[in-house]
Formats: sequence, structure tokens, C-alpha cells
Amino acid sequence: MSKLKIAELFYSIQGEGRYMGVPSVFLRTFGCNFKCSGFGMSKGQLSEEYLTVNPELYTKYDQLPLVSTGCDSYASWDPRFKHLSPMLESDSIVDAIIDMLPSKDWNNEHLVITGGEPLLGWQRAYPDLLDHPKMANLKEITFETNGTQELSPEFRTYLINWQSENFDREVTFSVSAKLSASGEHPDEAIKPEIVCKYQDAGYVYLKFVVATEDDVEEALAALDIYQQNGFTALLLNASRRRRKCIRIKQSSCCRISNETWVTLQ
Ligand code: SF4
Repeated sequence: MSKLKIAELFYSIQGEGRYMGVPSVFLRTFGCNFKCSGFGMSKGQLSEEYLTVNPELYTKYDQLPLVSTGCDSYASWDPRFKHLSPMLESDSIVDAIIDMLPSKDWNNEHLVITGGEPLLGWQRAYPDLLDHPKMANLKEITFETNGTQELSPEFRTYLINWQSENFDREVTFSVSAKLSASGEHPDEAIKPEIVCKYQDAGYVYLKFVVATEDDVEEALAALDIYQQNGFTALLLNASRRRRKCIRIKQSSCCRISNETWVTLQ
């Protein structure tokens, strides 16, 4: 039986993406290839705020303090917080998930697999989890990814088959591509050749965190690169089936071209 290191498991109303307001179970895996220490900082500065959190003071993930700079999910990848993320067999994870569902079975709720970066080595463990008999009625899975991890050929095939076994099933890749404001280098963070291949296995939309006009310019330049590599951008909120979306997060909502949707708060 496969095991997964789980930082957090919770039931919530999904707040973003194609399915705004959909009841969802969030499964947060441990581990990330980035640190994103530039969020909330001046250009060129990196946050060390997460290092001020003493891991010995906490026994549960949800007790941890929020940080105002850097990655807000620091405990999902910082090894100092590993003890808060148990390695669990898929049976136990499924039981915990089912227990969270109001009707104790899937009834149009979504499963959101997030991180950290959920497409690291855990790809090997997901089939065991998803093939569990109690997961048979699950119809919608979203991977919240930073878009830098290739799908393994085995997992790509698995996801295609999972959807073709039941045409009500859908897989979505919510790709939060990191701009330079994250502190990560664009050569490492913008991987269009990888993201475009996700399109073979599900719906894909991009989202960028932007705070300044420079960020918006950088996001649009990145979008060009994705499109040159075969990413087909259609509007967020377009109707179902095989649509690809772009969303740039800032503050409220305005459409700035036929292919780009800016969310302004
Ligand atoms: S990719 Fe996501 S989880 Fe990983 S460090 Fe960046 S913001 Fe945090």
C-alpha cells in the first residue's frame, strides 16, 4: 500500500479556480522544490520570516502562525516542520477524507491536491489512493501545482484512463506559475514545455500573483512564452469541457484582452 506525507487535510469551499465556491476536500502534501521567499518583499530581498517560527512550540499544522512575507505554506516544505506531516497509508487518508464529507460519500465535492508541490514524487502514490473503493464516486480532482514538475508517463496515462472510465470525471491543473517577485528565477519557474503537456491529461489554467504593473507586464510576457509553446488560453468562466484559462490575481475583476482575465481585489 502506498504512503503519502500529509501536511494538512481539510474540508472547505474552494475559493479560486474554475469552480469558485465548490465544496472541496484539500489534501496538502509535504515537500516543495521552491521557497518563494520574495513574496511581500522589496525587489531583490528575500524573507526569512518563516525562520522565526519555532517548530518545537507546535504539535499540529493548523496551530502555526501565518507569515506576512514569503510562502504562506512554509511548513509544507521546511524540514524543521516535518514532524507535523505524518506519513500515512492511503487507507487511513481515504478514511479521513470520507469522514469529512457531509454524506460520508462523494456527492459532487471536489478533491484538491495541493502542497507544497503535489506533483513531486507523490505521483507514484496517487493511483493507490484514487483506486480505493471509497473513492469510486469522486468526479473532480484539481492539482494545485507550480507548473515545474513533469507528469510521469505512468501517471499521465493513469489520469487519462481515470477520466475515460467515467465521462463525468475531470482532472484540472491549476498552475500557479511563479514570477520573479516570488524570489524564484524565471528559468526555473516558467516551464511552458511541462505545463503544455498537462493539457493531455486534463484542463489547465494559469494564475499569476501580481502586485505591481511590472508584475503584470512580466505575467503577460510569460503568458506569451506559454502560448508560443502550445498553451491554448481561453477565458476563465468559459463553459465546461476542454477549456483552458488564464487568470492573473490582483484585486477585483477585469478582462484586459480576449485571452486574459485579470482578477483585481
Ligand atoms: S511553490 Fe507554492 S508551496 Fe512552494 S514555496 Fe512557492 S508558494 Fe510555497
